[in-house]
Amino acid sequence: MAVNREFVSEIVPPEVRSEPAWWFVFQENKLLVYQKPESVMIPFLIDPNEVSLTVIRQNYLGHLDNRHCYAVEVAEGTIPPAGMAFEGLRQIYGRLDEDLFWVAARAVQIIDWDRTHQFCGQCGVLLRARTAERCKECPQCGLLYFPRLAPAIIVLVERGNELLLARSRHFMPGMYSVLAGFVEPGESLEEAVVREVKEEVGIEIKDIKYFGSQPWPFPHSLMIGFTATYAGGEISLDDREIEDAGWFSAEKLPRIPGKISIARKLIDRFLAKQGRSLEN
Ligand SMILES: [Zn+2]
Repeated sequence: MAVNREFVSEIVPPEVRSEPAWWFVFQENKLLVYQKPESVMIPFLIDPNEVSLTVIRQNYLGHLDNRHCYAVEVAEGTIPPAGMAFEGLRQIYGRLDEDLFWVAARAVQIIDWDRTHQFCGQCGVLLRARTAERCKECPQCGLLYFPRLAPAIIVLVERGNELLLARSRHFMPGMYSVLAGFVEPGESLEEAVVREVKEEVGIEIKDIKYFGSQPWPFPHSLMIGFTATYAGGEISLDDREIEDAGWFSAEKLPRIPGKISIARKLIDRFLAKQGRSLEN
C-alpha cells in the first residue's frame, strides 16, 4: 500500500486541536527531539504543555501525511523534558525520518523569520501576520515581510574525467567541495555561476546546465545546483575565500560533504557517470 508522505503547506491552523500533531520545538535554532539509541523522533502531542513546555512563539506549518505540524519556540534556558534533547539540524540528519527532517528545515526558517521580523524596519510599528499567505504586514505603511530566502548557486565543473573541488577557509580540516556562492541582486543564476567560478578560481566555464535545488536552512538559503564544463584558464585562487582548489579524479577524492547536501548529490552524480559510488 502506498503511503502518502506529501507535505502540504498551510497557514491557518485547525480551529480545534483534538488529535496529536508533530511539534517542531526550537530553542534558538536547536530542535527538541526524543533520543533513541539509533535515531531521534519529533514530539507527537496534542499540546506541548503535555511535557511541560511553555511556548513563546507558534506558527502552523501545514500537514504531513494528514498530521498537523507546528513550529514553536521556547524560552532560552528551557530544560528539555526527560528523554529529550535540543540538537542542531545538521546533527540529526540521517537519524530523523527524512520527511520529518525537511519539515524541520521549514520550521526553523519560519521561526527565525517570525522572531526577527516583529517590527516594521521602516516605521517601527508592530507587524501583523497575514492569513492568506506566509507574510507579515505593517499596519501603518503597508510594507510586507516575507520569510527571508537567500538564493545561492552551487556548481560542479568537469574537465574530462576530473572535477573541480575547492577548500574554503571555514571548512573542516581536509574537506573539499564544489564551488558555491550567493546570487547578487540583478544577476541571473547563470551569471552568478560564471562570476563565482571566475572570482574564486579564475577559470572560464561553458555548458551550464541546471541540476536541481535544495533548501539549506543554515540559516535561510536556497541552493540552486548546476553542472558546467571547463572552457579555459589556469586555477588562480581568491585567497580571501579559497584556501586550495584543484582537479580531482574519481579514484583520488579528498574528504567531501555528507549526504545531506546538494554538493554531495552533484559529486555522486559525477561518480555514477564513471561507474563509481561512495558509501558515506
Ligand atoms: Zn511600516
